[in-house]
Amino acid sequence: MSMPTSSKPLKFQQALRSSWHRFYSDFLLPSRVHELRSLLEQALAQGYQMHSIASIWEKIKAGQLQDGPYLVLRLDIDTDLRTTRALWQVVREMGVQASFYFRLSTLDVNLMREIHASGSEASYHYEEIATYAKRHRLKSRAEVEAHMPAIQALFAENYRRVKALTGLPLHTVASHGDWLNRRLGVINHELLQDRGLREELGIELEAYDPVLQQRYTQRFSDGAHPNLWLNGNPLEAIRTGLPFVEVLLHPRHWGANIPVNLRDNLRRLGEELAYRQSWWFCLIGPLNPLWPIVQGGLVESGF
Ligand SMILES: [Zn+2]
Repeated sequence: MSMPTSSKPLKFQQALRSSWHRFYSDFLLPSRVHELRSLLEQALAQGYQMHSIASIWEKIKAGQLQDGPYLVLRLDIDTDLRTTRALWQVVREMGVQASFYFRLSTLDVNLMREIHASGSEASYHYEEIATYAKRHRLKSRAEVEAHMPAIQALFAENYRRVKALTGLPLHTVASHGDWLNRRLGVINHELLQDRGLREELGIELEAYDPVLQQRYTQRFSDGAHPNLWLNGNPLEAIRTGLPFVEVLLHPRHWGANIPVNLRDNLRRLGEELAYRQSWWFCLIGPLNPLWPIVQGGLVESGF
């Protein structure tokens, strides 16, 4: 007969472990940029053709896709321009192409132009459903759907602004997944289901479009310490020669940038407070610097 287990100490232990992982990830994680170099070296050695989303899309459009193997490299620049530059440096030195999608909060016009000039792609990592829902404190999918025309207008305005500022084609875009998207169960790219809007703006492809996604043999995404790869290690896929692989990276998981992560954690807390408008929650304001430690265990578990 098994002994009854007490779930409280277990939960506490899990919360403690998750807080430690979050702390390590945010403030201690050493640079892993050399791992990207090694990944790209091995892919090249295995005969992989490396592509950005834009360059693979050109091949698909021209009907020039062959048996491969192909590796599509995509970086979603959610935070941390310093690590972004370091990762781009590796991509450039290896003579390959990748897509770098920037949010409004990470927009760096000069870097985007440099990336484009080096042969890679720099474009827009959009999140207008989440932004609008935060601003107007929308609480359900139905509310989001009711406001879709206004959300799409906001997207169009931002997209045109990014295009005008950078002078880049922005033919492909990629949706960002924010905390509020997860909570509402609405993905940002739902706003681009409208073909007319795409045509009006000149958007040819969303990175999650089935026309591209269905070609991938396997997709890999990096993750936060200790799960550095979420769906298996792409190195194994490369070694076995999978014909069509996408690797998605986020700079945050490639080295701790302490001030950036601290600021991002505080911004996340601020957004939560504004969204809930709960005055009592503000009482923990003085404990803000401790936020990253509790964040893993508290908010993410649906506190
Ligand atoms: Zn993102």
